[in-house]
Amino acid sequence: MDPRLETDDDHPHEECGVVGIWGSADASALAALALHALQHRGQEAAGIVSLEAGGAFHSHKGRGLVGDNFSDARVIAGLPGRAAVGHNRYATTGETALRNVQPLYADFEFGGFAVAHNGNLTNAHTLKRALVRRGCLFQSTTDSEVFIHLIAISLYANVKDRLIDALKQVQGAYSLVALHDGALIGARDPLGVRPLVIGKLPTGGFVLTSETCALDIVGAEFVRDVEPGEIVVIDDSGLTSQRPFAPQQSRFCIFEYIYFARPDSLVEGTPVYETRKRIGAELARESGIAADIVVPVPDSGVPAAMGYAQEAALPFELGIIRNHYVGRTFIEPTDQIRNLGVKLKHSANRAVLEGKRVVLVDDSIVRGTTSRKIVEMVRAAGATEVHMRISSPPTTHSCFYGIDTPERAKLLAAKHDVEEMARIIGADSLAFISLDGLYRALGRPARDAAQPAYCDACFTGDYAIPLTDQQDNAERPISLLKAANG
Ligand code: SF4
Repeated sequence: MDPRLETDDDHPHEECGVVGIWGSADASALAALALHALQHRGQEAAGIVSLEAGGAFHSHKGRGLVGDNFSDARVIAGLPGRAAVGHNRYATTGETALRNVQPLYADFEFGGFAVAHNGNLTNAHTLKRALVRRGCLFQSTTDSEVFIHLIAISLYANVKDRLIDALKQVQGAYSLVALHDGALIGARDPLGVRPLVIGKLPTGGFVLTSETCALDIVGAEFVRDVEPGEIVVIDDSGLTSQRPFAPQQSRFCIFEYIYFARPDSLVEGTPVYETRKRIGAELARESGIAADIVVPVPDSGVPAAMGYAQEAALPFELGIIRNHYVGRTFIEPTDQIRNLGVKLKHSANRAVLEGKRVVLVDDSIVRGTTSRKIVEMVRAAGATEVHMRISSPPTTHSCFYGIDTPERAKLLAAKHDVEEMARIIGADSLAFISLDGLYRALGRPARDAAQPAYCDACFTGDYAIPLTDQQDNAERPISLLKAANG
């Protein structure tokens, strides 16, 4: 998703990208480049904390895009050192206070410690309440600060063991990078819901980051994914690994394949672009229909539409043109402005659409507001039929694992069956890929309900990680209601 185009955005939103660099004289500059490559994962704020020899930490954080904050050479020069951690933040309205911008930093008796986190802790509120009762003073409303306080009160002697102690108390989805004077640490939650990969710099240093597209931009070689439940510690003697959790079936977020990850990234070692084409092909096999052309809803629907068109032997046409230069004026998340935003962001290519039976391919329907406007636009441009095909199953449930989705009542698929949804968005027909079809497109057998290979809770309601805070919100103070960002 283009960072400046939230006008009509009717997709779930990724919440955050992280990077850690160890062993490069240009650590902060590399971190800034990596954050550029991860801009699609969060556009509200960006931050970098660097570590200089001798243990001095330096920090620069700001609201807005990476380019807004890290384009000035003086900013990078103010972040010296051979190690750095960085973070892109997505946050919902009202949560953009600078104090919430990561990486978070704290001084401990062992020295400085910075942490950046992608995901959402599902027991953050419960832990936070207990910590506040013990006298901990929270500076932010981000759940990532829970890590800081759990580390502070841990009785273990060294930083890594304190972090592991903290990780054993949290529930949720997290990929984090942490930096102290001695090591860069990376960790993924035991189910591996959120991504984290390891790269090697040509100079011998290491990179930890959310996606491989961030490795490419800094010239690092992809080594492997950090495994679910794995803690990696990188210092001047290399990388060591620890697995403090009992092994279990991993549940990587299936939506990373469908929408969140950049198409040029490898996810679990597989190119996202190819996977999306396979999803489109499966969609065509499942719900092909007589039509003249296949048109993607740009940009996220493009690879799936290509796969659909190839499988259906139909021409792939750019029937919708996207304006990449919409400013940030229209970011107010009201329906009225969202509706306006659709017209600003997308234009129908009449020369392609007129007189045609059109298959429109998009990756998801959340509220349905964008789909309705786009179908209307395509029809107004002369399409004789508009058949909507979606490369995900119906989004029937909210995500509590780090992706910003509306509350369930606002999800179109939570309230309506497919036929009703087709009527609401004004399409002649509507079809979603089946859950089993999606698993097949990912090279798996059909979904095993007893042991699913992915997190697919937003399609199934099968929440693999307990939603402790959701069941425990009776006493929840207002200041903590929006604590779930990272
Ligand atoms: S609920 Fe959906 S978006 Fe959230 S982690 Fe699971 S698959 Fe991903």
